[in-house]
Amino acid sequence: MSEALLTLPPYIKVALPVPMRTLFDYKVPKAIALRHELKPGMRVKVPFGKSSRLGVIVALSDTSDWDPEHVKPLTSLQDERPVITQELMALCEWAARYYHHPIGDVIFHALPVLLRKGENAEFRTENWWFTTPQGQQLPLEQLSRAPRQQDFLKAVQQHPHGLSQHAALILDLAPAAGKTLEEKGLLRREPRSFNKGGEKHAHQTQVPPTLNPEQMHATEHLLDHRHEFNVALLDGVTGSGKTEVFLRVMARLIEEGKQVLVMVPEIGLTPQTLKRFEIRFNTDIVLMHSNMSDRERLDAWLLAASGHAKIIIGTRSAAFIPAPNLGMIVIDEEHDTSYKQHEGFRYHARDLAIKRAQALNIPVLLASATPSYESLTNGLQKRFAWLKLRQRAGNAHIPEMERVDLRGKTLVHGFSEQALANMTLCLERKEQVLIFLNRRGYAPTLMCHQCGWIAACDHCDVNLTVHKRANKLHCHHCDTQKALIHTCPECQSEELFTVGEGTEQIETQLSTLFKDVPILRIDRDSTQRKSAMAKLTKKIHEHDQAILIGTQMLAKGHHFPNVTLVIIMDADAGLFSSDFRGMERTAQLITQVAGRAGRAKKPGHVLLQTYHPDHAAIECLCNLGYEHFAIDGLAERKSLSLPPFYHQVIVRAESGNEHEAMQLLAAMRNDLEPLFSKDVYLVGPYAAIIVRKAGQHRALISIKSAHRVPLHQATQMMSDWLEQSTRQHRIRFAIDVDPLETY
Ligand code: ADP
Ligand code: ZN
Ligand code: ZN
Repeated sequence: MSEALLTLPPYIKVALPVPMRTLFDYKVPKAIALRHELKPGMRVKVPFGKSSRLGVIVALSDTSDWDPEHVKPLTSLQDERPVITQELMALCEWAARYYHHPIGDVIFHALPVLLRKGENAEFRTENWWFTTPQGQQLPLEQLSRAPRQQDFLKAVQQHPHGLSQHAALILDLAPAAGKTLEEKGLLRREPRSFNKGGEKHAHQTQVPPTLNPEQMHATEHLLDHRHEFNVALLDGVTGSGKTEVFLRVMARLIEEGKQVLVMVPEIGLTPQTLKRFEIRFNTDIVLMHSNMSDRERLDAWLLAASGHAKIIIGTRSAAFIPAPNLGMIVIDEEHDTSYKQHEGFRYHARDLAIKRAQALNIPVLLASATPSYESLTNGLQKRFAWLKLRQRAGNAHIPEMERVDLRGKTLVHGFSEQALANMTLCLERKEQVLIFLNRRGYAPTLMCHQCGWIAACDHCDVNLTVHKRANKLHCHHCDTQKALIHTCPECQSEELFTVGEGTEQIETQLSTLFKDVPILRIDRDSTQRKSAMAKLTKKIHEHDQAILIGTQMLAKGHHFPNVTLVIIMDADAGLFSSDFRGMERTAQLITQVAGRAGRAKKPGHVLLQTYHPDHAAIECLCNLGYEHFAIDGLAERKSLSLPPFYHQVIVRAESGNEHEAMQLLAAMRNDLEPLFSKDVYLVGPYAAIIVRKAGQHRALISIKSAHRVPLHQATQMMSDWLEQSTRQHRIRFAIDVDPLETY
């Protein structure tokens, strides 16, 4: 027995993906301790209840809080090296504390799905074909009687650096022919690790544009501070060349051997964005987003973890990607709400990335044309460097915003006469119109003319949306789908009609008004299939005149140079939201959509259709712009003691029983409020706006404070209380720290 073994701590503390806010102790059997060096971050199989589970070692320990007799030994060790690095383990532990979320769930969230399921953390290997010396010299005519073998050998002869199995498949070469050639000693196979697969070609074709003075100033600031922790807010109007600025800084860091993580919103990663990185950098780029298969995601993770990938472009969960030489984190469209996870482990990827960068002493760059109120406040208070780009890059100009008063006007398919006239002119100039309506489907409501019946979801307190093309009624809250009906279930009348418009309806109606114009709809329904978005954007670039109709998907990051007119069909949609963030979101959305107009040489024009043209918010946004709007909005938040000036936590409870969730939260408030610090303010419990969702009745309680510490303490008490009291009930609870939704 080695000396090392004798000194090795006899216990490990393991995180398991279970909803318990605790670690689990296991013994290390001698047989395992003799052969392996256990480290935090390695996965282990352990007995749990009557079954066995995969867990991650969080710590080695000399003692256990349990009776040693009852501590079970671990079953097997899954890794030779940690899959959660020390750096990421610290980040996970911080996140579990800050978000009051079970550590096991946090750690498992940080791993790619396949690693959660026990897959080896190793590159897959693939066989590559090579010629033997005989195979290289063999004249192809000698195989004329075996054409498949002839094709196969020819292809491999043409690839002196080898031909991958995958490539052979694409070239339609017969696998059997390859095997025969191998048996004849003309070919040989060699397994190669996936990461050596792609050879990079030198293709730095694009000459970067000369920076304008604002871009230059921002770039210099970022370069000067590139080796230390700091957060910069790159606040630039749409099309001002923000991307160009961070590409410059990235280029320098990559030259210095660093890796850069670029975070993008969930549906904001366009094929155009990727292409822009590819033509600029002759280096390995990996993607990490929800449209990839589990294996593709693991491959990307391994390439980042091994340091091979220099650029990692990913959505929210990429905040946890291991990268040994990480040199900077860029968060593009930092205001986007998809950075916050709305279920389970409710973290904010931006805030997590900042925490991570601080620990690594590297910079963070937040970019947006419409920064979140949180980041603007940090800019105003000089915690973030606030770098402004107020000019559009190149020759493009900021589009003009015009309100169209809908009061008393006759509308054609939801359009004012002015909007239709402008649309016609724009199309005649062979330019493109973008129509924004943040409502997918054909119509939001189906109603009976005889008895007033409305099609509603059986599981939620909402109406079903009509999808004519799919012939369905669809609940956008719980995803329930039913066949579209034509007879009223209450009175058997056949006079059912739709109320309101969705993108699908606009598309149908405009195709009768503008017969020869290509009409492209971009929403979640039309882009479900993997390559659909790429095909749509390709079409948009192919045509000169076109009508694009879309939801907020269209607002994100796209660059359509020929769009010169933007019509916002319903500018009032977000004006009367019950959430205090409603105004901020509306202003961001309108500004982002408007920013799609006139991004190239031709000037842009934006029409906002509204029934409230004199509403202070719409007026301010049109005349003074987003920054002014936001600063006014922040003053209001301050006077009302709302975030970001106060910190907030929301506790949600839900139950299949109508009153249970509400009663539980009321009992909690009763028990705990006397124990809370005087600096903590409670509101509720109150019912969610959509009380019943997917069959669950939902209630919330809000708690806020100007100080983090008392808020954190109160939250800890609530979490402990709820964990105790929900053990017997069928009530689920969730803690949402820094919530973005409060209803
Ligand atoms: P943003 O990220 O702010 O929306 P981009 O970086 O995408 O802006 O720039 C918008 C367009 O202007 C792009 O086509 C880009 O290539 C171009 N561009 C950026 N900077 C310059 C510049 N200094 N001179 C000319 N064109 C530029
Ligand atoms: Zn009816
Ligand atoms: Zn529903």
